Amino acid sequence: MKYALVTGGSRGIGKAVCLALSETGHHVIINYRSNHSEASDTLNKIRTGGGSGELLQFDVADKTSVDAALDAWMAENKGKTITVLVNNAGIRNDALMMWMREEQWKAVMDTSLNGFFYTTQKLLIPMMANKFGRIINIVSLSGLKGLPGQTNYSAAKAGVIGATKALAQEIARKGVTVNAVAPGFIRTDMTKDLPEQEIVKLIPMQRFGEASEVADLVAFLASEKSSYITGEIISVNGGIY
Ligand code: NDP
Repeated sequence: MKYALVTGGSRGIGKAVCLALSETGHHVIINYRSNHSEASDTLNKIRTGGGSGELLQFDVADKTSVDAALDAWMAENKGKTITVLVNNAGIRNDALMMWMREEQWKAVMDTSLNGFFYTTQKLLIPMMANKFGRIINIVSLSGLKGLPGQTNYSAAKAGVIGATKALAQEIARKGVTVNAVAPGFIRTDMTKDLPEQEIVKLIPMQRFGEASEVADLVAFLASEKSSYITGEIISVNGGIY
């Protein structure tokens, strides 16, 4: 059995990633912060498709919460190694920099950047000992080009992009790859308040992407087929440059 942990697996891109990893034979550990019913829906869909999974609630932004949940999982599952980690949990809290409150800055940094650190560091040594691992970070177009109104979000995602490149080089010899996927505009709860008809004019494919279109790339990066790819940031954005 191959074990995969997806943070933020209750909704949106994370839910689609859970389903895609289940289809490729993983037992999926579905993390979420508070939406238990949507997390249960992800698990039900996995089971309906003949797969297996479990729920693991923790707040990626809180080191104590991450440590407690993952220590408990490892204690209950001795001899099993989580070989695929998808750092997907993320939030937006947009404001122009001149009006941004410190809490808005911190909440977004704590979730994307610190959440990446807390969760990844916890699973890194077992993955290296196992001599096979896949770490996939969901970043953003915003972290590559910067988007106005999102200095917090752009900084957090750019931070994860830098960390992806650095960590990939640290552990390449250990059979553990580290890559990032940078979605553009994907139709999820996170983008439902955006003016889609205006934004699509800026996208060469003239549409928002679907979560499954991101998940298919994540499933490939999580597989043994991606063995010589590490430190890459791959965009899934309908042609925006
Ligand atoms: P959604 O808002 O649809 O879902 C967010 C998910 O993250 C939920 O499962 C939520 O859990 C979880 N989450 C949020 N905060 C925490 C936390 N502190 N601890 C644990 N889980 C948490 O977002 P998307 O699916 O759209 O986004 C997924 C990722 O993709 C994010 O990192 C986002 O930044 C990135 N992205 C999205 C784009 C888009 O267009 N949608 C574009 C570029 C990047 P719960 O349900 O419990 O609240």
